[in-house]
Amino acid sequence: MPADGHVFVITGPSGVGKGTLIAALLQRMPKLKLAVSATTRAPRAGERDGVEYHFLSPGEFQARVEAGEFAEHVDYAGCSYGTLRSELEGKAAAGGAAVLEIEVQGARELRGALPRATQIFIAPPSFDELRARLQRRGTDDPEKIERRLRVAEGEIAAQSEFAHVVVNDSFDRALEQLDEIVGAALAADATVKT
Ligand code: 5GP
Repeated sequence: MPADGHVFVITGPSGVGKGTLIAALLQRMPKLKLAVSATTRAPRAGERDGVEYHFLSPGEFQARVEAGEFAEHVDYAGCSYGTLRSELEGKAAAGGAAVLEIEVQGARELRGALPRATQIFIAPPSFDELRARLQRRGTDDPEKIERRLRVAEGEIAAQSEFAHVVVNDSFDRALEQLDEIVGAALAADATVKT
């Protein structure tokens, strides 16, 4: 496991815009590397194995759980998702910092394992706006959207657990805030060169 000061855990409800914010952050800060999660969910159009996710069968996922390969893993909306230890180690070995995009339960699990990681919660401006974004995104059918929104209620209620909360109302403002939080944590950790 890498020194956990080199890990940024970015969490928040599905549809809040974590992925888009992280993609923009990675462009600004090339030393940050995305830890590619594993999942049993089916790839969406355009998603590539090993890029957006490592797409595993339920059997493969379970075998890797039993082999102790995950730093954290959860069941979310009927599928399994998890962060492979190898993804964290690889990013730290490259002299950079790892960025994780995960849901709230996984972030909680990691607090014990990586207490020095910086955890950032991305919040929607409102619950109705989150619903509207999931509908606009069009990647999930109405039933799956409702399932994600039910989970999101609990996730939004958990935001007070996080030292850093960024409300994604204006994308540019949210990106600036994220940049400031990550930049400050990296500056405090002189072993990572940005
Ligand atoms: P999606 O199916 O929309 O790609 O992801 C569903 C949710 O799972 C999102 O909130 C996403 O951030 C989260 N997620 C993705 N990878 C992981 C992971 O490795 N661990 C955990 N705990 N959650 C993840």
